[in-house]
Amino acid sequence: MSPASGIQLIATIHELPRRPGELRVWRRTVDAPPDLGIDMIGVPEDSPVDLDLTLESAGDGIWVSGTVTARLVGECARCLAPLDEQRSFPLQELYYYPGKDAEEDALFVTDEQLDLEPALRDAIVLELPFSPLCRPDCKGLCPECGANLNDDPSHTHGDAVDPRWAALAALKPADDSAA
Ligand SMILES: [Zn+2]
Ligand SMILES: [Zn+2]
Repeated sequence: MSPASGIQLIATIHELPRRPGELRVWRRTVDAPPDLGIDMIGVPEDSPVDLDLTLESAGDGIWVSGTVTARLVGECARCLAPLDEQRSFPLQELYYYPGKDAEEDALFVTDEQLDLEPALRDAIVLELPFSPLCRPDCKGLCPECGANLNDDPSHTHGDAVDPRWAALAALKPADDSAA
């Protein structure tokens, strides 16, 4: 793990008064932590991730909201073409003050600090498609020869005979003679 990314994603809030409605803008570009993605697509480790967030005092903690923008690299699930694009994701997360009642997986303010990495992870990883596509109507690959059907939409194997039809064709003369 890049030691920098963990530290870069710590936001300190000692200058943020606990009065509800008080807010601070938190804008940073950080190095992407490792494993920020799923099998088919993800954010390359150490690539720049832009966070444009607002930290706001709320009753029970700090409400963090805004946008994260990152580079996504992966493969089209149908045609295996490389994917490489910038995408923005909304981020919304409540960090509870210490001692507040919250669900088991809730995030907490610790020592006047917010560790934004889990929020970043939720914002991006939970939104990634399990089957990313190079375009919504990607035609994929020919199941017989692997040709990219996007490059050659009229691609066919017209001469090849499906083995099931070949079997029927072989039976046909027998049927005729029985009739
Ligand atoms: Zn594709
Ligand atoms: Zn083919």
